[in-house]
Amino acid sequence: MEVLVAEKCGFCHGVRNAISMAEQTLAKEPMVYSLGPIIHNRDVVLRLARAGLRTVESVDEIDSGTVLIRSHGAAPAEIARLREKGLTIVDATCVLVKRVQHIAEELQQQGYKVVIIGDENHPEVKAVVGCAGDVVVVAGVQDLGRLPKAGKLGIVCQTTDSPEHFGEMLAAIVKRGFDELRVINTLCREAMRRQESAVELCKKVDVMFVLGGLESANTRKLAVLCGHFNPHTHHLENWAGVEPHMLAGKGIAGVTAGASTPDWIIEDFVQHLRDFAG
Ligand code: SF4
Repeated sequence: MEVLVAEKCGFCHGVRNAISMAEQTLAKEPMVYSLGPIIHNRDVVLRLARAGLRTVESVDEIDSGTVLIRSHGAAPAEIARLREKGLTIVDATCVLVKRVQHIAEELQQQGYKVVIIGDENHPEVKAVVGCAGDVVVVAGVQDLGRLPKAGKLGIVCQTTDSPEHFGEMLAAIVKRGFDELRVINTLCREAMRRQESAVELCKKVDVMFVLGGLESANTRKLAVLCGHFNPHTHHLENWAGVEPHMLAGKGIAGVTAGASTPDWIIEDFVQHLRDFAG
């Protein structure tokens, strides 16, 4: 089968940095925990677990050792609790995620009602809410009823949102007639570049595969965007997810991958596709 791979796909610098910090810490320390999965990719989490990384969901589960803060960050209250327990903290929060946290804090101090456009259940958004306190989270226009009726809003977005969705949300908020809106563009360029090349590629192929963790926000966004342009788009974790009907009658396949998908998953997938005789 002919296979085309998106020009920009796979690991971003934030994820690479978090994994390399985890590996370096595991080489030095006997007991290393990650507060939540280090990245949203099961294959990577399993590989690091085999190297000794223990993933826990709550600070309550850790009494000693070193704790890695993942690329999505953690709320200041959680970090304070880790410090109170005397644990060593290794902070692998992506600098761009840190930037959103600082901006949200500053907006709140300047008297704005902070609004984040994103998924309230995503760890990045939860950490931002933890930084700025009284934050309104809106995922789509259906959530705009959560906004106050008046006043001044300070608006940011989840780093992995798309410019199209961010723009649509801003337009809908503007129509609500607030006196003052302060909008800070917190989109991640790495995520945007992956979106642009995925959309470009999916228009040229018979079937499009988007590889990455099913929980990964940036991978999910890629799959949604590609789905708009190519109805034969599939979001899969790896080759094991392929079903025969996905390839039946298809000549050219496109492959892209989220920012938390390692090269070995992409290479293995592409090789299997190339070997597929149809
Ligand atoms: S996608 Fe962007 S914001 Fe998220 S970890 Fe990677 S570089 Fe950081």
